[in-house]
Amino acid sequence: MEFQSILSAATGEHGLAVNPWAAVAYLIAGVLFILALRGLSSPATAQSGNRFGMAGMAIAVVTTLLTHAPVTLDGGLDTIGLVEILVAIGIGAVIGIVMARKIAMTAMPQLVAAFHSLVGLAAVAVAAAAYLNPQAFGIADAAGQIFTVSRVEMGLGIAIGAITFSGSVIAFLKLNGNMSGSPIMLPGRHIINLGTLAAIIGLTAYFTFDQSPWVFWTITGLSFVIGFLLIIPIGGADMPVVVSMLNSYSGWAAAAMGFTLGNTAMIITGALVGSSGAILSYIMCRAMNRSFISVIAGGFGADAAASGGGSTEQRPWKPGSADDAAFLMSQAENVIIVPGYGMAVAQAQHALREMGDLLKKEGVNVKYAIHPVAGRMPGHMNVLLAEANVPYDEVFELEDINGEFAQCDVAFVIGANDVTNPSAKTDKTSPIYGMPVLDVEKAKTVLFVKRSMGGVGYAGVDNDVFYMDQTMMLLGDAKKMADDIVKALNGGGH
Ligand code: NDP
Repeated sequence: MEFQSILSAATGEHGLAVNPWAAVAYLIAGVLFILALRGLSSPATAQSGNRFGMAGMAIAVVTTLLTHAPVTLDGGLDTIGLVEILVAIGIGAVIGIVMARKIAMTAMPQLVAAFHSLVGLAAVAVAAAAYLNPQAFGIADAAGQIFTVSRVEMGLGIAIGAITFSGSVIAFLKLNGNMSGSPIMLPGRHIINLGTLAAIIGLTAYFTFDQSPWVFWTITGLSFVIGFLLIIPIGGADMPVVVSMLNSYSGWAAAAMGFTLGNTAMIITGALVGSSGAILSYIMCRAMNRSFISVIAGGFGADAAASGGGSTEQRPWKPGSADDAAFLMSQAENVIIVPGYGMAVAQAQHALREMGDLLKKEGVNVKYAIHPVAGRMPGHMNVLLAEANVPYDEVFELEDINGEFAQCDVAFVIGANDVTNPSAKTDKTSPIYGMPVLDVEKAKTVLFVKRSMGGVGYAGVDNDVFYMDQTMMLLGDAKKMADDIVKALNGGGH
């Protein structure tokens, strides 16, 4: 069969896929993506979830290549074009594999931001290609007039894509430390932002009447600018929510472009990414006790940074050593381990698991308590503990374990801070007031691992637990401390 006939069988008047085999293949890919999302919801099934996702993407890419293979003017296969596509896929795959293998878990949020920027840019590139050559995409009549519905999809795709791109670049620079994490507040920013947004919406509506290049490119330019303006006032503390929000935007941009390209797999995938990103942003805001609107409006982080610098109060606290910790825990009946961001930075998960195993050998009942926003991204702790082969049945979510601290002998807090801070329950002036926290202060003994008394957590606030009678501060790097406790438990001291 000639490639052109496959192509024409695959596209209808508006470019929507009508080839029954392509439709079935895209449907299967869509089902696999849904299974992937389901699998990724638990560490136990995350690997199979990833495999479903990879299989779905492979089916979608091969189907698209078969139904939209590049053709020459006389209808034959354009081999050079096909090779170019395959080489581009190959280069992208190699970059993706190398980055995924090399990236440190703590740098994951900025990697995700970097990838989102590419999704946004791809949406802009597709919209621009469709605008410049609409007949090739089957979205224009013989006179070159783009169909109204396609203009709406294109306008939306380019606006959301450009916002995603510039917003993600700023998020990447802030998370990667290339740009200050504190909010940058332009005077009159709300008016500038609302004005720019209104102009984008107005021009997108006008684009349905007038497809002149100035309309298209002005929408593109303004959208790049608004992405930048929307993200610079957002402080470092809210950045992970922003990354998840941009994830959602990138999904909607892809869905809009899926309509332009007539690619059902892209529409399904875009909608899945768009809605799951939106749900995740909502869950993160709730776990941090921040309203979604206040995150978008920006400005959070300035006060937190200021109060973080101010924790110079001198209060008595009790120092302890790895030997003390090993002794106290080996004598305990129940130990609850609370990992946080510092555990991730220090990569202490393997030493921590070893410590847990040794305690279990001594007959201690060991559990891990995971706060929903411990670390710097959702599921951060679950992923690290799973990597260290901590059994899933020892890992508990906040609501399932919080009632147990009152009966536990030792709460071993390692590199966590905000997620254990009781001020979230009592101090209305605290930036984390209202955030649900782990009730570690109820344990008979609290062992708190951090590097110094001066260091504060993400929200920049002091923690009363450090100064309680039953708390012993184990100052040092989380991995080194866990290693030393393991040595002490093995009877070697350190
Ligand atoms: P925190 O950021 O509150 O505290 C981290 C602690 O780890 C600090 O006390 C720090 O003290 C210590 N630390 C840092 N490096 C090391 C090291 N190498 N060894 C030992 N200790 C170390 O972490 P939490 O996990 O408790 O809380 C997460 C925070 O991040 C919350 O405020 C949450 O809202 C926020 N957040 C989380 C998101 C998520 O999705 N998970 C998203 C957005 C925000 P010191 O410097 O003295 O060592």
